[in-house]
Amino acid sequence: MAAQDMVQDKYVYDFAEGNKDLKDLLGGKGANLAEMTNLGLPVPPGFTITTEACKAYLATGAQPDGLAGQIEAHLESLERAMDKRLGDPQDPLLVSVRSGAKFSMPGMMETVLNVGLNDHSVVGLSAQAGGNDRFAWDSYRRLIQMFGKTVCDVPGDEFEHALDEAKRAKGTRDDLDLDADDLRGLVDAYKKIFLKHTGREFPQEPREQLDLAIRAVFESWNAERAVLYRRQERIPADLGTAVNVVAMVFGNLGPDSGTGVAFTRDPASGAQGIYGDYLANAQGEDVVAGIRNTVPLQDLERLDKSSYDELLGIMARLEGHYRDLCDIEFTIERGKLWMLQTRVGKRTAAAAFVIAGQLVDEGLIDLNEALHRVNGAQLAQLMFPRFQLDHEFQPVAKGIGASPGAASGKVVFTSARAVELAAEGESVILVRRETNPDDLNGMIAAKGILTSRGGKTSHAAVVARGMGKTCVSGADEIEVNVPAKRFTVAGQTVGEGDVVSIDGTTGKVYLGEVPVMPSEVVQYFEGSLDPEHIDNALVRAVHRIMTHADANRRLAVRTNADTGADAARARRFGAEGIGLCRTEHMFLGDRRELVERLILARAEGERDAALAALLPLQRADFEEIFREMDGLPVTVRLIDPPLHEFLPPLEQLAVDVAVAQERGEDVAKEEALLAAVRRMHEENPMLGLRGVRLGLVIPGLFAMQVRAIAEAAVACVRGGGTAKPEIMVPLVGAVQELETVRAEAEKIIAEVVGDSGVEVLIGTMIEVPRAALTAGQIAEAAQFFSFGTNDLTQMGWGFSRDDVEGAFFWRYLELGIFGISPFESIDRDGVGRLVRIATEEGRAARPGLKIGVCGEHGGDPDSVHFFHEVGLDYVSCSPFRVPVARLEAGRAAVQTDGSDSR
Ligand code: PEP
Ligand code: MG
Repeated sequence: MAAQDMVQDKYVYDFAEGNKDLKDLLGGKGANLAEMTNLGLPVPPGFTITTEACKAYLATGAQPDGLAGQIEAHLESLERAMDKRLGDPQDPLLVSVRSGAKFSMPGMMETVLNVGLNDHSVVGLSAQAGGNDRFAWDSYRRLIQMFGKTVCDVPGDEFEHALDEAKRAKGTRDDLDLDADDLRGLVDAYKKIFLKHTGREFPQEPREQLDLAIRAVFESWNAERAVLYRRQERIPADLGTAVNVVAMVFGNLGPDSGTGVAFTRDPASGAQGIYGDYLANAQGEDVVAGIRNTVPLQDLERLDKSSYDELLGIMARLEGHYRDLCDIEFTIERGKLWMLQTRVGKRTAAAAFVIAGQLVDEGLIDLNEALHRVNGAQLAQLMFPRFQLDHEFQPVAKGIGASPGAASGKVVFTSARAVELAAEGESVILVRRETNPDDLNGMIAAKGILTSRGGKTSHAAVVARGMGKTCVSGADEIEVNVPAKRFTVAGQTVGEGDVVSIDGTTGKVYLGEVPVMPSEVVQYFEGSLDPEHIDNALVRAVHRIMTHADANRRLAVRTNADTGADAARARRFGAEGIGLCRTEHMFLGDRRELVERLILARAEGERDAALAALLPLQRADFEEIFREMDGLPVTVRLIDPPLHEFLPPLEQLAVDVAVAQERGEDVAKEEALLAAVRRMHEENPMLGLRGVRLGLVIPGLFAMQVRAIAEAAVACVRGGGTAKPEIMVPLVGAVQELETVRAEAEKIIAEVVGDSGVEVLIGTMIEVPRAALTAGQIAEAAQFFSFGTNDLTQMGWGFSRDDVEGAFFWRYLELGIFGISPFESIDRDGVGRLVRIATEEGRAARPGLKIGVCGEHGGDPDSVHFFHEVGLDYVSCSPFRVPVARLEAGRAAVQTDGSDSR
């Protein structure tokens, strides 16, 4: 107990005390700084304030007991290590205060650099920098600017205006032309802005600066953009951020200093090599913000060979240590290399597969771990089409392929306009000079993002890659004019609403809409690319990982398909049968009228005629599907239409009849139809006469379908095939419903199949909560179960599935009532519990009962893991999700001790 209390009370960790596995407590940045420190790499000394301290602060609005003292103690030891004191007028220690949550949230939270500078220590800093006054005053003005904006909410553009004003007065457009006196004047101007907005002087006391900065980082966890980013990335809202306090090192001390970012492999394609950007004489945020154009990292070899060689050595070491692609931030201060950050780097979907394959080849990971380094969402992304280019399409600009994919859409220049047009159903491309975290809404709404500034590591690039959104960055031939809502390129002007196409793989930009072609991954799944005989790293990696997933998964994967074409495609994608053939889809188009007659028929003769006309049509439908799925099980669900979908709309019919009556026309037939529609009208069709209820009310309807299924199966077998039909009854809530349908169906089946050898199973959907809760009884009459999680979610929550997502889910997501729509990903606690109960009780009553799921959740990665855990036999999903479900079923089945892909 006492030991536990001590652990809970420790809020501050020196870098030497942590390690990479403490991300929950120290955040990603802090844990990795600790890891690098322990590896003996050159990390500036510092300490990390834990996420627990942040959570305690956010819960109470005050620093938890003991935190202030611990910060003091760690600050003292930092001062000893550096042999400097925070804010010392002669030789000041300066620190950076940086956020760092468990999961990287690039640019979403706050950072304050140069903490410890004031009117006195700025002089000492200059002396320590060899009389470099310009550097010292530039550092001071950056502190006031960052501190004012992030800690005290001073509007950032006021500082920008003052900076522009100083440059205008000097007759320059470049910050670097401002000398020490100009910057001293700017510091005065900044202090006035600070006073005007906060009602107080800029704090001169270094420790107060530090405490306020720490508090601002804590609070930035709940900043609007951070909340939005977490929702988008499905990062839990209650993790809190850690705060890293690190001795400052300076990349802006002159030409022998600089700062950069690096990747150990190409995060876009996965190719091996050195990738990164370097900017001489600059501080770190200049690179990430994409404000100045960087040079490729390779150029560092020429500029500072010894630092370059040391960096390459460290990069190789980190890769070997983390057994993965790492990204790195570093600073060189007067020829001395410092590591400021590393982490397992974000990467595109293609790179994730390629790198996982390479690491297996290099012996760093095994195939089980490779399977966990990729995920279904990435695979789904790779199945998107790409541009189909011929001579007609010439690029007008080329930037950096920052996040792959092909996107066409109308140009917009602001986040707000992107949101507006997207809400109207338009595809838009957000065009900016560079993006910043305030553009997040627009980036989410846009199909693609195009910027004229910034590299592979700019904000736009990092965020777009994380979202899987197409992005071209740094297309510097483009002159963006946001106020005038236009850009110019190659002598042409493109205004808001004009269409452009961007290729996030090649970085090319086209005017107009470029046609697209299918992805090579889809071609591979379809069997038209042979992975053993083509030189395509991605296809080979996908093949290898999918093969491993298939060899290990326990869940079978079927498809939801109701046409021969869909069935055939799904089979090529690896479907092992049909889990849901929705027969109501076969009653649309020309056949709608027959169904209408059937539903509204009052006389037996009328009904029988309609059924007789439908029988051969249905038989042909099923024959085609059985043929495509030869040898595999096919679950055919008996008709389940919400009635209103098949009847003419009541209001329109009433108006038509009234108008015709007014004109004195003969409307006897229409009146009869209107009366019938009125009779059948329902206030809540989703809870009305559908599914098994319809089958029990309309004589002969289910019988016709059962006959068509059995006859089609017999025809298939007589033709030399193997049909494995499974008849599924929808919307059952009570075992008696199923028994009634089953008794009639069995008679027909026995009569039709005779000695053909065809075996027909009869089972039920479990999609009404009562069915789940009485699954033990229902299993007595069912040869299989299939969960209809769409209806089970609708009825479990009481959410109309047609209405609620648009109507109010945004508010539920905002309030965190759920992190994702329960129609998209299974609600494990509620609806999932029904699934669990029904599985257990169903199998208790009928051991070995075959159970699957055919709601939308069958193709959702998280839900697939849940269905694996619960012990279902198969998931069934739309054809395009089949590979995703195969992959996720493999991931669910395979254990690994290594890192997992989010
Ligand atoms: C379900 O409810 O989950 C289901 C598969 O049936 P439908 O979506 O056709 O109602
Ligand atoms: Mg349903």
